[in-house]
Amino acid sequence: MLLGAEANIAEDGTIDVTPGSVPVLDTVVASVHTDLRSAKDQTARLVRAVETPGVAVLGHPKGRLYNMRTGVKASWDRVFSAAAGRGVAIEINGCPERQDLPPSLARTALGRAASSPSRATPTRGGTSTSSASPSRWRGSPASPPSGS
Ligand SMILES: [Zn+2]
Repeated sequence: MLLGAEANIAEDGTIDVTPGSVPVLDTVVASVHTDLRSAKDQTARLVRAVETPGVAVLGHPKGRLYNMRTGVKASWDRVFSAAAGRGVAIEINGCPERQDLPPSLARTALGRAASSPSRATPTRGGTSTSSASPSRWRGSPASPPSGS
């Protein structure tokens, strides 16, 4: 069993919860919940988030709501490359109300995952691309979760 939390990505890319700040956590999903309608590029915000030790998944990457909110703007290839380089999975949220990522970006994310030592894992209602490995848990390659 893993104990995780969804952390908020602040506008400067810092994370409000990490396994380092809450040692009981095994893993963290980092997600954007603010500044979702901004026209500014948020690549640096997302890259900083996926490069934060302890972050295992970038959750609902755009903060998109289908037909209501397009979500954050970023150079997605750079974000996906940074995530792949750190072994951070990208959530593709298949919830009909979200569809985050949209299909074209989902294909880009899957392509990035396919070209890295990773795997794509189908989930109920969507697919998450996963390049995460036990080395991402607790943010240390030397400490995979115990009891697994
Ligand atoms: Zn969320």
